Amino acid sequence: MESVDITIIGAGVIGLALAARLVQPNKTVVILEQHKHIGEEISSRNSEVIHAGIYYPTQSLKATLCVEGKELLYDFCQQYQVPHRRCGKLIVANTTDDEERLALVQQQAINNGVNDLQLLSSQQVKKLEPAIQATSALLSPSTGIIDSHQLLLTLSRLAEERGALLLRNTQFKQGEISSNRFILNVQTGKEAYQFSSQVLINAGGLHAQTIANTIEGFPKSDIPSLYYCKGSYFKLAGSFKLNHLIYPLPEANTTGLGIHATIDLAGQVRFGPDTEYIDRVNYDVSTHHLTTYCQAIQRYYPGLKKEQLVPDYAGIRPKLQAPNSPPADFMIQTAAEHQIPGLINLFGIESPGLTASLAIANKVADYIGV
Ligand SMILES: Cc1cc2nc3c(=O)[nH]c(=O)nc-3n(C[C@H](O)[C@H](O)[C@H](O)COP(=O)(O)OP(=O)(O)OC[C@H]3O[C@@H](n4cnc5c(N)ncnc54)[C@H](O)[C@@H]3O)c2cc1C
Repeated sequence: MESVDITIIGAGVIGLALAARLVQPNKTVVILEQHKHIGEEISSRNSEVIHAGIYYPTQSLKATLCVEGKELLYDFCQQYQVPHRRCGKLIVANTTDDEERLALVQQQAINNGVNDLQLLSSQQVKKLEPAIQATSALLSPSTGIIDSHQLLLTLSRLAEERGALLLRNTQFKQGEISSNRFILNVQTGKEAYQFSSQVLINAGGLHAQTIANTIEGFPKSDIPSLYYCKGSYFKLAGSFKLNHLIYPLPEANTTGLGIHATIDLAGQVRFGPDTEYIDRVNYDVSTHHLTTYCQAIQRYYPGLKKEQLVPDYAGIRPKLQAPNSPPADFMIQTAAEHQIPGLINLFGIESPGLTASLAIANKVADYIGV
């Protein structure tokens, strides 16, 4: 049976960042991707925002890996010419209640080591963004946007150039543990085969729980519940231009960050994502809640007309947070938790996973001593 040092399941941004980080001249790394192309699931259905790390609970993995990952990502983008822009974002307040919450957001940011937020008056906001209405706002200068497709392509090119083997159209089916190695059963098209690996990293995104479930001998009680939480986007028809990302205050329990306005590198304005817990994967953008959606945006962009909102795309968050419950952190599960040496499960890698990807890769590299 063929054997390799490290197998990564999933070629989304996390699996690819891991592969690029872990591959060494003396370490064989294989990445298994069930689809024909890389990054077809969560990694290509998101807001493409480089987050500052403002809202997450202090010391959580989301906070620490976002703050660290943001700097790593900006450096990486510069080094490898990945298109990005440090455009900054405004978190806008429109009521007294909002203003009180804005102060809490600023304090939370400071607790997380994000010390560059600036409080702006209504007039200062108007100067920066004439169409945006706010009684005050926080400017986050370190927030930016990135071309996530170019990031994925760059990571996969680096991983392959450094010697990793990326197997597309190849699905991980089942694994078992034998003499401290993993025996892995995979399928490419109709062909099934088996190989062994010393380390197994589960970066399966929306399928991470299913993957863990098929590893024989892995305690089922260690698999956290998964909740699909869909976010739909609408693009704005017309020639409206924004210079900054515009965010309202986050939703209760930070389930989502509120229906915000983002811009892509081509200048297209897009609104979303909302939060909708769903039972099964489905990427249709429904116009059911368009009125509520529109009202949420009109609080900070009163000039919006409902007919300008054009359904765009949807993404699904792999949440560990049940509806109406407190926020859950990323879960990077190692032998310290499940007592199986060499197995790392990445559960609940929702936002800010794109921003944190390089920091997550470093953390996993530390765990396995590479
Ligand atoms: C609506 C939304 C908005 C977001 N906005 C942002 C943002 O602005 N900024 C930010 O930092 N983060 C954002 N995120 C989070 C970010 O997109 C994710 O954290 C990140 O993309 C997760 O990457 P991943 O590699 O874990 O998952 P994925 O990209 O889904 O990759 C997992 C891969 O595993 C493969 N796979 C699964 N099972 C198998 C199997 N059995 N065999 C082989 N392959 C398998 C899948 O096909 C998939 O390609 C957002 C997420 C969503 C949903």
